[in-house]
Amino acid sequence: MDQKKSIAISACLLGYKVRYDGAQQRNDIIIKQLVDRFNIIAVCPEVEIGLSVPREKIELHQRGMEIQLLTTGQPVIGLTEKMIGYANTFLKNHQISGVILKDKSPSCGVENCKQYDESGNMQRNGTGIFAATIMQLKPDLPMLQSNLVTQPSDLNRFIQKVHEY
Ligand code: SF4
Repeated sequence: MDQKKSIAISACLLGYKVRYDGAQQRNDIIIKQLVDRFNIIAVCPEVEIGLSVPREKIELHQRGMEIQLLTTGQPVIGLTEKMIGYANTFLKNHQISGVILKDKSPSCGVENCKQYDESGNMQRNGTGIFAATIMQLKPDLPMLQSNLVTQPSDLNRFIQKVHEY
C-alpha cells in the first residue's frame, strides 16, 4: 500500500511548460528533494481555469477592499471568481498534506507578487489568488514559496510539517 503523503506543486516548477510565455521554471532542488518522498500533484491553476499557453499576463489589482485578478489586454477580464472556485474544487478533489507554490505569480505567489493600487502604483506585497484561497480554506496546511526552497532550514521545516500534518 502506498503510504506516501501527497503534496501539490506548481506545475512550472516541475518542468511543465505552462507559464504565460510558454516556458517552464524547473526547480532541481524540489525535484531532487521531494519527488521520491511524496506523491506529487502538479497543478497550474491558470491552465486549469481555461487559460491558454502562451497567454497574456494577468495581474493583481486592488479595487476597493478587494484584490482582483485581471487580464492585461482589452477588454479586461476578471478571473478572481474562477480562480477562487478552482482552488475550492482542487482542495475538495485532492487530499494533500502540503503545497509548494511558485513565487511572484499572481495566482501561485504566497507573499511577493506585484499588486497595483487604484492609482496604478505597484507594490511587491501581493498574494496570488490561488494561494490566498488555499490559505483561507486550510490555514494549517504547510505551504512553501518556491524562492525559499534553496534555504535548507525552510525546506526541512516544510518537510517536517508535511509529515506531521
Ligand atoms: S506560477 Fe502557477 S499559474 Fe503560473 S505557470 Fe506556474 S503553476 Fe501555472
